[in-house]
Amino acid sequence: MPDELLERLRRFHEQTFPGIQDQFQDLVDHGQHPHILFIGCSDSRLVPYLLTGTGPGDLFIVRNVAAFVPPHDGMLPAPSGEISPEGAYLGAARRFTGYHGTAAAIEFAVLSLKVTHIVVCGHSHCGGIRALYEGVPPGAINLQAWLDLGREAALPVQVSPEALRRTEQRAVVLQLERLMGYPMVRERVEAGQLALHGWHYVIEDGEVHVFDVKTGQFVPASSATHSGTGPYTDDSMASPLFNEIDASYAQTGVSPAPTRNRP
Ligand SMILES: [Zn+2]
Repeated sequence: MPDELLERLRRFHEQTFPGIQDQFQDLVDHGQHPHILFIGCSDSRLVPYLLTGTGPGDLFIVRNVAAFVPPHDGMLPAPSGEISPEGAYLGAARRFTGYHGTAAAIEFAVLSLKVTHIVVCGHSHCGGIRALYEGVPPGAINLQAWLDLGREAALPVQVSPEALRRTEQRAVVLQLERLMGYPMVRERVEAGQLALHGWHYVIEDGEVHVFDVKTGQFVPASSATHSGTGPYTDDSMASPLFNEIDASYAQTGVSPAPTRNRP
């Protein structure tokens, strides 16, 4: 059986690399200085370099299931009614969600690389978001736990294309809110040194819908006036963002969002 991957590695080294070697040598000699941290879903149909017209050295990329951002202190509110192993009622207690490479990458990008933009990019037909409604395969205990980072975005409705699209967008906003919980992010955003961008990429249209924090809506890039820069202040990042998104769906017949349980 031919080793197709090995063939591809050889083809890259022998045919492709010579044409771009200088560019990479430059990036080695002078180091990497990407301005953008791109947090995207792992989905194979989302190709950050294609979308943004970028190449080597331009994007510091973190990809994970559904483009989630863990809380900076690793603590999530326990679901109401959750019972501890000892039988105690946890109510609004918080629990440690574990160590996350995504959180480490955010700290590195902001503190060491000093990026000036952070993009959170979700997308249409996201399997991670669908799993919020349909569950995960048996044995996927890590995936099950990971999805907790998006549960707040899920809606109490039957799964439908409309509900999924809306949940995908709500999840992006939820991650932007979590980003503002990183002290080094908040500090720089408030100082005007760092811009946050919430994107929802529609695979079949080839178009990114950009979150506008002022109106709380996602606007197609073709008619947007910006790529999603702030202001992300205490006021604008308080809870009404979800409500704005929900209002924009008000005509669609999808039930309203549940009341959010904030810690
Ligand atoms: Zn996805």
